[in-house]
Order: sequence, then C-alpha cells, then structure tokens
Amino acid sequence: TRRADVRLPQLKQFNQVGQVILVMSGKGGVGKSSIAALLAASLSRQGAKTGLLDADITGPSIPKLFGLPPGGLRGGELGMLPAVTPGGVRVVSTNLLLKEADLPTVWRGPLIAATIRQFWGDTIWGKLDTLIVDLPPGTSDAAIAVLNYLPVSGAVVVTTPQELAGLVVRKALKLLQNKEVPLLALVENMSYFTDSQGAKIEVFGPSHLDDLADLTGSAPRIQIPILPALSQAADAGAVETIHLPEIDRIAALLRSTPSP
Ligand code: ADP
Repeated sequence: TRRADVRLPQLKQFNQVGQVILVMSGKGGVGKSSIAALLAASLSRQGAKTGLLDADITGPSIPKLFGLPPGGLRGGELGMLPAVTPGGVRVVSTNLLLKEADLPTVWRGPLIAATIRQFWGDTIWGKLDTLIVDLPPGTSDAAIAVLNYLPVSGAVVVTTPQELAGLVVRKALKLLQNKEVPLLALVENMSYFTDSQGAKIEVFGPSHLDDLADLTGSAPRIQIPILPALSQAADAGAVETIHLPEIDRIAALLRSTPSP
C-alpha cells in the first residue's frame, strides 16, 4: 500500500508582517543595536506584535541585550520558531542558532544573504505589526540583502556626535535614498550628558545633525543622552527595563507609517 502523500501546511505560509523597519548606522559602536532593541521593546509595550531580526550575522548582539541564551531557536520542517523576550518580542539571530557563542569568523557575502533570506522567509513570525531589522554598521552585504529581499517600509538611522562630521553616516543615508526607502527618524545617540545640576554637557562635542540636513529632509531628529543605566541594563541582558520617552516617540512614529 502506498501512503498518501500528506503535506503539512508550512506554518510560515501564514506569516503576515505589517511593516519592516530598518535600524542602520554608519559605523559600529554608536548604539544601533541598543536603539533597535529599545524600539522593539517599546512597540511591544504599546501593544504592537513585534519581531526583531538581527541581520548583523557576524556580530550579533541582540540576544545578549535581552538576556536570551544561545541555542534558543527551535525549528523543524514547518519553519523556525523565534525566541521570545520577557516583553514579548520575537527574536531571530545567528547567536540563537549556535550553541557556542563563537561564530565562524569568515562569512562570505552569499552566505550572509542566504541566512538573511532564511531568517525572513523560514521563520514562523506569525502575525506581526512591525518587524525591526538590526543591520550591521555601514552599507554591507547584509544591508543590500535586506533591501533586496524584504518589503521595507522605512528606516531609522543612528549616529553620534563623534562620527567624523557624519561622513560615514552619509553613505548609509545615500543608500536609503538610492533604494527609495523613507527615512523615518535620524537619531543622535549619546548626544549629551546631564550632570547632577541638570546641565547638559556635550561630552562628544556639538551635534552635527545640521550637516546632514541635505540628506535627511524633513525626517525628525531625535537626540538621546548618554545614560549609564542603559549600558548597565544592556550588559545585564535587561534592556527591556529601560523606558525612554524619546524611543516611545519613535515607536509612535513607526506605528503611524504606512506599509508599502
Ligand atoms: P552598535 O550596535 O552601534 O555597535 P551598541 O548598541 O552595541 O552599538 O552600543 C555600544 C555600546 O554603547 C554598548 O556598550 C551600549 O550599552 C552603549 N550605549 C549605547 N547607547 C548608549 C547611551 N545612550 N548611553 C550609554 N551607553 C550607551
């Protein structure tokens, strides 16, 4: 007797993602992953079903920010199930795939692109209002792959006053322009420090947001201060305990952005 060829429905077929939002930066260390994590957490807190795709394949830092242990992804023929943070954010990252924290040091461009396609297409995201994508710094293979394969609604670009007159971040902004991806917000992170007397100190020098005006158009510019509590919470895997009005403002902005 021949067994009937019963094909189970692929759960990922039922994925429904309302909007895909990129978080980008010119260079590393400006707080891009922290902002991506805070944004996803804020959206989830506001009641939006939220996913976070860590597209920084070779330098993933999202799981650690949320305290998610390595090897947390489960998968089978039906697709891959994201790990879920205490605040309800569904996360996919190479750091969750591998048991060891050490990743192979050399990932070729095509493998990076293939991994991103899988994270997007083979994950059982379910119904999401927003998928936040944490891109690696710069205009890398990963950034190109995401822009080519995902229906991107818009992007948030993160910079700091340290970035040399914004030269590197200009490249990221130009890439968005070329791909016709709307810039939803320009974030200047670590913009200033407020001392015990309440005075604002520009630790890394004056803002250079004005220098970028030709590329940022009317996108809102949002400054986030240096917050020791943020880096402490991030190191402790408790990024979701940090609630910032500036981030809530960006989250509200994203929620009012139409899908493509
Ligand atoms: P990137 O993703 O751009 O490489 P990260 O998000 O990993 O940057 O942040 C780099 C470091 O700076 C981390 O240690 C993080 O905790 C810290 N950091 C980020 N933003 C702030 C901030 N506003 N105040 C204090 N520390 C911050």
